[in-house]
Amino acid sequence: MDKNLNYPLRIAKSRIAGQGAYATGAIPAKKKLGNMGGEIISYREAQKRVKKQPHNVLYMVEFDHEDIALDASVNVNALRHINHSCDPNTYMRRAYRKVEFYTLRPVKKGEELTCDYGETHHDGKLPCRCGASNCRGFI
Ligand SMILES: [Zn+2]
Repeated sequence: MDKNLNYPLRIAKSRIAGQGAYATGAIPAKKKLGNMGGEIISYREAQKRVKKQPHNVLYMVEFDHEDIALDASVNVNALRHINHSCDPNTYMRRAYRKVEFYTLRPVKKGEELTCDYGETHHDGKLPCRCGASNCRGFI
């Protein structure tokens, strides 16, 4: 198993967008799922790469108050496939040059993992298809 993952995940087609990451067993709340694979690069380099990346997936993660970003399109692991939801079951923590994912609530076996992308480079222009009752409509 990927050394960056604390729980094995399965990649499969998602009802939200493209492929998604699914729990292969029950995961309790507030557990660290792992670190997102990628490459730490400068903010300036990130701005360059973002222009060449598709905009419907989470590829570039920027860090607040730091001049760096994580390019998740390289050294890819299963966490990269976590889709956005306005009612997510995980959250992303950005700290110390790492992008970590934690469960917000207990996750059932076979459940798709989702996270609120929050401020992304989409700037709220990408239609959201998460299907949550509290969906904001855009990412
Ligand atoms: Zn939504």
